[in-house]
Amino acid sequence: MSLFDTHIAVDWSGGNDRGTKPKADAIWVCVAGEEPVYLRNRQVAEDWLAARLAAEVGNRVCVGFDFPFGYPSGFAKHLTGVEDALGGLWEWLEARVQDAPNANNRFDLAGAINAGLDGVGPFWGNGRPNHDVDHLPRKGLARTNAQFAEKRAVEHLAKGSFSCWQLSGAGSVGSQVIMGLPVLARLRRKFGAKVWPFEALDSGVAFVEIWPSLLAKSFPGDAIKDAGQVRAVANAMAVMDANGTLGQALAAGEGSGAEGWILGVGAEQILEDAMRPQELPRPPKMRDDCFALPAGVDWTPVDEALARLEAAVSRVVGVEQVAHMQAVGRVVAEPVVARRSNPPAPNSAVDGYGFAHDATGEGDQVLPLLAGRAAAGAAYEDAVPRGAALRILTGAVLPEGVDTVVLEEDCSVTDTHVAFRGPVRPRANTRKAGEDVVAGGQVFDSGHVLRAQDAALLAALGVDSVPVFERLRVGVLSTGDELVEPAQDAPPDRTYDANRPMLLQMATAWGFEAVDLGHVGDDRAALKALLDEGAARCDVILTSGGASAGDEDHVSALLREQGNLQAWRIALKPGRPLALALWQGVPVFGLPGNPVAAFVCALVFARPACLKLAGAAFAEPQAFMVPAAFEKRKKPGRREYLRARMGPDGVEVFASEGSGRISGLSWSDGLVELPDGAAEIGRGDPVRYLPYGSFGL
Ligand code: AMP
Ligand code: MG
Repeated sequence: MSLFDTHIAVDWSGGNDRGTKPKADAIWVCVAGEEPVYLRNRQVAEDWLAARLAAEVGNRVCVGFDFPFGYPSGFAKHLTGVEDALGGLWEWLEARVQDAPNANNRFDLAGAINAGLDGVGPFWGNGRPNHDVDHLPRKGLARTNAQFAEKRAVEHLAKGSFSCWQLSGAGSVGSQVIMGLPVLARLRRKFGAKVWPFEALDSGVAFVEIWPSLLAKSFPGDAIKDAGQVRAVANAMAVMDANGTLGQALAAGEGSGAEGWILGVGAEQILEDAMRPQELPRPPKMRDDCFALPAGVDWTPVDEALARLEAAVSRVVGVEQVAHMQAVGRVVAEPVVARRSNPPAPNSAVDGYGFAHDATGEGDQVLPLLAGRAAAGAAYEDAVPRGAALRILTGAVLPEGVDTVVLEEDCSVTDTHVAFRGPVRPRANTRKAGEDVVAGGQVFDSGHVLRAQDAALLAALGVDSVPVFERLRVGVLSTGDELVEPAQDAPPDRTYDANRPMLLQMATAWGFEAVDLGHVGDDRAALKALLDEGAARCDVILTSGGASAGDEDHVSALLREQGNLQAWRIALKPGRPLALALWQGVPVFGLPGNPVAAFVCALVFARPACLKLAGAAFAEPQAFMVPAAFEKRKKPGRREYLRARMGPDGVEVFASEGSGRISGLSWSDGLVELPDGAAEIGRGDPVRYLPYGSFGL
């Protein structure tokens, strides 16, 4: 039996007061099985958690937080007189920490604790460049106090973990402990939560310490660092609980005293097994009667046929994670979120000189020029004092103290000073952090087909891999005794198989995996064997030829008997009945044999249907109204597609409408679509033109 009903992972955050260098003050929470939630700050997070825990009344809930629940041994006793995390340390901090979105006293508090100890330390790291804190050294090496261990026992086993004495700097966790434990103390009291590993987890709510980076190396495929990690850890907790290994992982924390433990340390294999992406079940095959038309339907208009087709098909492929380099042409399976902002930090848009705007004014400005410079990839580490200027190059992160840049062409410069004419617009020539995309923001929705430019965006946002749908496997086979391979020297009563290479290339162009099933004569047993093979190897099968009701039309005969065939008579030229069937649950599109008709039917019907089978939208081609450079009169009753291309006077159509004229396909760059009703088109009249690009070719 599982220990909990609900599993939640929280990725906490230290604070947001680190000057101009942005730090996405993001707290991410994920409930196993749900989407990650972005919470702006600790106050919002505390409210969210309280509301969620209240809503979970009656359920057993396990909440993981990614910061230490205790300090190296002896510290709690020093602070509170008892070596106890909960009633001692947590409540001691809760009573003293002041926290608001823009201000908190963590550095002062740490300095005050240091002051009560011999020497310098153990807390160190000051996130405020221009404000020294009494008794809080900026550098770890400046410390002399060695009363407590640098790390907890568990941290020696968790490679890459940080010491909780370090309060600032990338990856540090010290501030999160000071600011997070008071929140936990309040939530614990409110919900009677039991805290691992200090207490038996015998109430409705349990808090456990997690560290998502513990197995980060095993999972380089995380699409979104923080959101992806909380999702992975929440789901891993649920998986461990479901497969009975969570108890073992929790047992590894026994005996850790007031220091606490990290879930998964000492049980790495269990956690790793649980974090391995669970095989997602493939969606069920399509329903047997999905292509059925209502009784009494004779000729179906194209739009109605498309609507029926869209309703009939559904996604048949599963999900996989691929590197962003391999993702172009693939269909996004889950919303993709920016892993970091673009740009990640405010930077300079030009080569010039940077300074604080509020120290400048109208008229001539002469500022002392600091030594050194800020360049792209080579940040200027110090703060620029108000009233001074610094050489700064395009793409360089704005140093602390710089918010405005003046173009070098607008300056006169000596070794010691830079002069320019004021006033300068505040923040001139700078780019704001996240002005393009903000970390955590969604950039692609499920169903989006990724293009080359999308690979650039993914890379820029640090998204190195993407969940996509597996490639749809599209089988192509040709039927007809008359067909031979183009390589053979054939007598005139033989036809070279033109459809198969065409349809295979179309499937490839659409981003699918084209599977060449070959050619079969008008032989029922051979066709059946090939369809069996196709159903085993493919997600959808395109056949051409033999789909009418003629003597040799074995495709339709066989599919009618064994594949639930529906012959859709669509009011369309060129085209013949479109045969739709399911062979062992795999959809079969029986396209006309005539290459022109096969091409048009593949564009109009097979493409959108395959896209939907592949997890993308049932795409409608983009059409353009352009003047006709031809004349044509058509009768009502069916829609017509003419091979067409743009000329100097508008869209031209191929000289012959003969559907055997394959050269017209090569001559054309698109199709002109004439409406279902009657039409009389004169030169210059607007007509609908659909370039082949609109069909992904
Ligand atoms: P069917 O639909 O089998 O009656 O074929 C209609 C016309 O298309 C006939 O002239 C066939 O020879 C021709 N055809 C069928 N399949 C192909 C193919 N794969 N390549 C070229 N022509 C074909
Ligand atoms: Mg035939």
